[in-house]
Amino acid sequence: MGKGKGHIPLRTCISCGEKRNKKELIRLALDRHLQLVRDDQGKKQGRGAYICKSISCKENLSKHKKLKRVFRSEKNITLSPDLKI
Ligand SMILES: [Zn+2]
Repeated sequence: MGKGKGHIPLRTCISCGEKRNKKELIRLALDRHLQLVRDDQGKKQGRGAYICKSISCKENLSKHKKLKRVFRSEKNITLSPDLKI
């Protein structure tokens, strides 16, 4: 900070809830089939979310039911194969 470069965009990891620099997170998008996919370009349609690059956060994501809450979905959300451990 203090370098006059403006603010750093912070995003919250939906797995652990930590706020981090956007660049340290993986962007995810929920597609219309309710599959959560990686969105490295940030160009996919649909609702976006972020998680840390750590394995534990990915693990949490596949274990918990919190995805439904995060995306306010009544249906189950699946993870794309590249998000599974
Ligand atoms: Zn995290």
